[in-house]
Parts: sequence; structure tokens; C-alpha cells
Amino acid sequence: MPDTPEHGDLIIRGTVVTMNARREVLSDGAVAISGDRIIGVGPHADVAARFPEAREVGRAVDLVVPGYVNAHQHLTADRLVQSSIPDDLPPGESIFEWAVPTHAELTPDDDELTTILTLAESLTNGVTTTVEAGTVAHPDRVAAGARTIGARITLGMWGWDVEEGPFAAPPDEVIGRQSDLLAVDHGPLITPWVTLVGHDLMSDELLTKASALARRSGTGLTFHLSPTTGDVDAYLGRTGRRPVEHLADLGVLGPEVLIAHGVHLSDSEVELLVATRTAVAACPWAYLRLGQGTTREFRHLDLWQRGGRLALGCDAENAGDAVDGLRTAALFAGLAKDVPVDPTVFGAHEAFELLTIGGAKAIGMAEEIGSIEVGKQADLVVHDRTGPSWYPHADDVVLQLVWGSDGRSVRDVWVAGDQVVADGRPTRVDLEALAPVAAAAKRALLDRAGIEPRPKWPTR
Ligand SMILES: [Zn+2]
Repeated sequence: MPDTPEHGDLIIRGTVVTMNARREVLSDGAVAISGDRIIGVGPHADVAARFPEAREVGRAVDLVVPGYVNAHQHLTADRLVQSSIPDDLPPGESIFEWAVPTHAELTPDDDELTTILTLAESLTNGVTTTVEAGTVAHPDRVAAGARTIGARITLGMWGWDVEEGPFAAPPDEVIGRQSDLLAVDHGPLITPWVTLVGHDLMSDELLTKASALARRSGTGLTFHLSPTTGDVDAYLGRTGRRPVEHLADLGVLGPEVLIAHGVHLSDSEVELLVATRTAVAACPWAYLRLGQGTTREFRHLDLWQRGGRLALGCDAENAGDAVDGLRTAALFAGLAKDVPVDPTVFGAHEAFELLTIGGAKAIGMAEEIGSIEVGKQADLVVHDRTGPSWYPHADDVVLQLVWGSDGRSVRDVWVAGDQVVADGRPTRVDLEALAPVAAAAKRALLDRAGIEPRPKWPTR
């Protein structure tokens, strides 16, 4: 914080959706930032008067919102083969015959490139904070990519102790790698987490040691669980208990844990997650693209209604394809109405909460991000409301934002006070220059993995 906060560096003008405790929306408001922090929020005239020397950007017609939170995103591999894995494969095939073989062949350069490409899309769609999903081979290079593009992420590395598979190792070796990663300072925007692949691909020993490491280090622990009934069957067969029940028996549930998916949960599992304050990242596009039964189950709504901690995720480019928080929020809101056949239970505003302050709470970062309030990090997104879809402007801006818009109207983005997107383009990388590099890396990766893309229709 500067010594004289009255001299703000920058004022961003627009209708401000604060997501503060009262959920105030300020028509013709403004946000003042200095360094990496928000130092003023209020009506534009007041903020301009208070910080007369600040540079000002934006117009009253713009919409200023907190940076979006994507609580489950794979930053490596999938990006290079995005929209390549067919969408009509039997369950599991897309993971074990496509995703895992490509992960096994990733070079350090691939990891940095895919991180830059994925986060470039994320930022230009307004996603400023991303939880990496736990399939990173070269975390130093993912961190480098995130620093280059200027995004806020959590970062772990591949953790499983199965008999074979890329980067599999005995529990102590996996924990050693994770522990080494936690010891490194990756920069102010990168928070190391403990990450496991999860599912039934972690022994009880690995999971309990990972849990102990996360608790000892005061950081998060994330892993995949129960996107399909496969994990339920596996845990019932191995332990006689459903997955979340078994995790409760092991004592590893808790507020530092973020479970990805949790689509197939029993009532008792939902209760255990709520009681232990364990968070869940819901990735609805993945469940639909992969046909995993979320429209029959949709326990995420039960979890939310019982006060559980919930966030939204976009997952991997081949389990949802687009990295767009608003698109995900709209889908989630639609499912939450349609599955119980009740339009009153959940809507755009609740989904927008999950994308901002609710998501920040679920990943343990609500002290710093998720709302536009003095003292918080200056992670801000400006939507341009002059495009054809926006006229006439709705009185309820959140309703229009979630149902009538998506990431394409994002014009400018700041992370920790640095402008990382300007006029819809990343400020720190030249995407056109990266295009041929990405094309060559994709071809080389598929060759090494022995995979030949097969478009469904004859393509010449
Ligand atoms: Zn995932």
C-alpha cells in the first residue's frame, strides 16, 4: 500500500458489480487501484474527486466485475490436442487412450506453451484465478508460463502411485516431489498446492501423506473424485464404503480440500462434505461432453442448498473445450433449474457468486480476491457493453451478463494491478507469433504419443 492512498495510480470507470457482502452494483461507479491493490470503490464522481491525480480509463457504459475463478483447469497436454479427442468415445477411452498418452510425452517446452495458451484464453474471457487440476509434469515451466502471461494460479504436480503410468511413483517419492515444489517461491501470483490425480488412483497411504503435507504447509489439496459411477464402484469394491465416506474414515476431508467433480454422491457423502467444509469444483461442460450423468444426479445443487462450499471449473479442453467462466456459470444455472424442474431454486446471481466470491471462498482465497473491495487484490475485468448483444442494457446487469453474454465481451483485464488484457488481447504475448509454434508442438506431440486425429467427416 502506498503511504498516501489519496494518490491512486489508476481509476477504472463503469458500472461496478462489487460482489461485496451487500452485493452492491454501482451505476456509473469507479474502482481506484494502486500497485496490486484496490484502494477505492464508489460512485465515479466521488472516486475521481478523491484521487484527482490518478489516470482514468473506461466509460460509464462499461461493466466492471471481479476477476473470475476457475477452480479446476488442466494447464498442460489437453490444450495441444484441444477439440481433437472425439466426443463419442466409450467411458474412460478419452482419458486413457488419448489424454494420458499425450501427458506422458509432454516436453518442458510443451508445458510452458500450453500454460500460456490456456491462460491467454482464460484471461481474455475474464478468468483471473485458476486452480491447476493436478496433472503437471514440469511445474517450473508451468509457473514460468503463468508468470509470462500474468495470471494468478495454484500449482501442484502429477501425483499418483499406481503401478504404471506417466510420473507414477511410490508414495514417499510423490510426496517428496510435492514437498519440493511447496518450498519454492514461484512469485506472488503462484500459490503451490498439493495435487493428486485422485479417483481410485491413489493409495490410502499417498492420500493421508498428501493431506498431512497440505495441512502442515497451510495450503490446499485437490484431486478428482466421482465424476462417474466408476469411482463409486471402485471404492465400494476396495473398501466397502463409498468414496467420500472412505475419505472421511481416513480423516482427510477438511476446509483445505477441493474435490474436483463429486457428481455421483450419496446423501451421506453430501452431508460429510458439508460438515467438514470440504469444497467441490463443479465442471458442468465436462459432464455433458463426456456424458457422465450430471442431469440425473446433480448433487451440486444439494451441496449448495445445504451450505456446502462450491466453485465452478472448466476442466480440460477435451472435457469442455472452452475456458470461459461465464459460459460455465450459465450452464450450471440452467442445470440447477432444470434437474429439479424448479426455476426458483437457483439462477444467474447465484451462479455469478460461484464464479466470483463463492469460488474464491471455496479455494480459500476470499481474503484476497473474489470481490471489488478496498484492500483486496486488483483483479478486475471490464466487459464492453457496446456490442450488438447488449442493447438495450438490462436493469439487472448480472442477469444480462450470465444469460446474455460470455467471455467474448471482455475488453480489459487487470491481475494484481497489472493490465494483462487490453482491447480483448493479451498484453504480454503475441498469439499470432505463437500459432505456428503451437501447430508444430501439437503435431510432434501426437506423433510421439502415436495418436492420429481422426475427424469424423471426410476432411481434405
Ligand atoms: Zn480434471
